[in-house]
Amino acid sequence: VKSQGRNALCFFDPQMQISISLRAQLEADLQAALTARQFVLHYQPQFHLDGRMVGAEGLIRWQHPERGLVAPGAFIGVAEESELIVPMGHWVLRTACEQLAAWQGNPRLQHLQLSVNVSARQFRQRDFVARVVEVLRETGARPHLLKLELTESLVLDNVDDTIAKIGTLKTKGVRFSVDDFGTGYSSLAYLTRLPLDQLKIDQSFVHNLGVRHTDDVIVQTILGMARNLELDVIAEGVETEAQKKLLAQYGCTYFQGYLMGRPVPVAELEALLEPAATT
Ligand code: C2E
Ligand code: CA
Ligand code: CA
Ligand code: CA
Repeated sequence: VKSQGRNALCFFDPQMQISISLRAQLEADLQAALTARQFVLHYQPQFHLDGRMVGAEGLIRWQHPERGLVAPGAFIGVAEESELIVPMGHWVLRTACEQLAAWQGNPRLQHLQLSVNVSARQFRQRDFVARVVEVLRETGARPHLLKLELTESLVLDNVDDTIAKIGTLKTKGVRFSVDDFGTGYSSLAYLTRLPLDQLKIDQSFVHNLGVRHTDDVIVQTILGMARNLELDVIAEGVETEAQKKLLAQYGCTYFQGYLMGRPVPVAELEALLEPAATT
């Protein structure tokens, strides 16, 4: 079970074993919420070492009429275990692509990339590639600004299907990042077989950098490996200057975390790129 953002509003503990009836109720509520357009996408900025904002990760929230803003930890697991994650994931993809298209023509914003999370069930749909291509075409988003985040375990689960799908979308220009990297005990072998662009170091390794020696070793190993495979690396969950400094020292070039910025509504993300106010 994933850890939740500290400010996450949640109406039950995601760690809690939820009862069958509660689960069925939540599933029905999620279905209704999708129809009622109650989901919103927040954006957490991603930065280059040089300080430039290069893009953001889209993170889903449920704008619940009574419970307020609900973090994904409270519902994404249930959605993933049902078919619901498919239309939900498709909504996220379309929303992100519409945002990319809206930024085109704005010199301040048109360089921004968006990363979106793709669940296993969504990725394994037979028409996944066709749906992505269709959304790109319909929205007019530039494919190279779209980055799909696949978890390490998803990628490994059916490597041949993964290679085929990534391969096809790569020819369209779409980019790929391996989310939660380091948590899946993966072998190096598969990495070299996949046309990936980025590894995302899981926040659990970032958290104790400089404190737990083995984590420093793991992070250094990931970065060394990525360098040899010519993959970009982004670290997530960067909360302190000390963590950022160590990551930079180890060769990490992209950063995401509360230190630089929390997930925010799109207007707040755009405001981060507002030209400095004249004083
Ligand atoms: P993730 O993809 O690993 O996303 C990173 C999570 O860490 C986000 O939580 C983010 O708000 C949080 N985070 C970012 N920086 C920091 C930091 O410095 N410190 C700490 N402690 N946490 C930080 P969020 O938004 O609650 O999302 C949780 C998980 O829900 C995501 O983990 C992802 O697995 C899933 N999720 C979110 N949006 C989507 C979506 O659109 N589709 C799918 N399939 N899954 C999603
Ligand atoms: Ca992610
Ligand atoms: Ca992650
Ligand atoms: Ca994670």
